[in-house]
Amino acid sequence: MRQGTKCVQAGYTPGKGEPRQVPIYQSTTFKYETSDQMGRLFDLEESGYFYTRLQNPTNDVVAARLAALEGGVAGMLTSSGQAANFFACFNICECGGHIIATSGIYGGTFNLLGTTFRKMGIDVTFVDQDAPDEELEKAFRPNTKLVFGETLSNPGVRVLDIERFARLAHSHGVPLIVDNTFPTPVGCRPFEWGADIVTHSTTKYLDGQGVQVGGAIVDSGNFDWDAHAGKFPGLTTPDESYHGLTYTKKFGKLAYITKATSQLMRDFGAIQSPQNAFYLGLGIQTLHVRMARHCESARKVAAYLYDNPDIKWVEYPDLPSDPHHALQQKYLPDGSCGVIAFAVNGDRAFANRFMDALKLVTIETHVADCHTCLLHPASHTHRQLSDEQLREAGISPELIRLSIGLEDVEDIIEDIQQALEAAK
Ligand SMILES: *Cc1c(COP(=O)(O)O)cnc(C)c1O
Repeated sequence: MRQGTKCVQAGYTPGKGEPRQVPIYQSTTFKYETSDQMGRLFDLEESGYFYTRLQNPTNDVVAARLAALEGGVAGMLTSSGQAANFFACFNICECGGHIIATSGIYGGTFNLLGTTFRKMGIDVTFVDQDAPDEELEKAFRPNTKLVFGETLSNPGVRVLDIERFARLAHSHGVPLIVDNTFPTPVGCRPFEWGADIVTHSTTKYLDGQGVQVGGAIVDSGNFDWDAHAGKFPGLTTPDESYHGLTYTKKFGKLAYITKATSQLMRDFGAIQSPQNAFYLGLGIQTLHVRMARHCESARKVAAYLYDNPDIKWVEYPDLPSDPHHALQQKYLPDGSCGVIAFAVNGDRAFANRFMDALKLVTIETHVADCHTCLLHPASHTHRQLSDEQLREAGISPELIRLSIGLEDVEDIIEDIQQALEAAK
């Protein structure tokens, strides 16, 4: 199956008389014939459903569809993108461990790693994703457990050199985790470039309509945990909370996702509700059609902004002038995504008048769905950070994040044009 076909069909093949659309299993629990059967499920001796905090059939169909799209061996859905990134890292990095992450990542992930993980005794080094290898090498320590980056950073839309980061991570015996939210597997499949684990905020394009908050983790199955057993005892030594089973021995390539499900989901409970998984499944069915349109419209808006004297700068990797254009051509040749970063030619008051004058484009804390919207991180999502801290996080204080939806692009451009005029 090609990507578009997988969007529509992967993960679910109904039998005779069964529903064509994935049903919502709105049930907390499942019935079994014998006490013994139930016991084997709890011992992970048999696979099956017993309680929706751990697994649910609707979720599993959608997770399997996403795993197929990413080219991975297994996936799981979480209650949000935040939960996905938390689980993805915490599954292999505990107190005393160290993480290397790129600095331009999504503000929520930056806080998760930089503040909450540090409170949990996990140290984090943030690196500039465009720094040379020699500099990145210096960030590795003996207790480093993983490297984390975003295929396309939110909000700066910078392209990660996945192959280079995978090579660096692997040369130190640790996996590369890539948040692939913005391109989606229609635009980029990080496993093909050496990434080991992919995460998503499914709240964005995967759902695409702005109706559900959710997340996902997909494992490529490629990282050899046993080859670096000393670094990853959680996967390679007995788990006393499951009668001493060892995940890599018992589950092979499924070890990582099985541990995240049976241990972290059991204990933290951040499962995606089956209802939300159903919405996500619907969204993915049209993903390939929508992404093509998001990219096409964003290219036109980026070109319009680039030529506009009222615009100071534009960052959109598909623009030939963009510093990340060569990486876009390599990793996202069919188009990056619908998100554009730019700054207006004027002070903050002018920027605010411009945003207030927009009629069709709305000011929202959201991004990457069918409605065109924008946000000024320095005034909105990142307002707790000083201009200096913003720059450290790789975000210019004047950056406006514009997310191109599925409206007619002429209407979007006309709205921006009238708002720029009205702000003068
Ligand atoms: C939105 C986002 C997240 C967080 O996802 P939620 O679903 O809001 O919890 C993580 N990473 C990226 C790149 C995002 O855009």
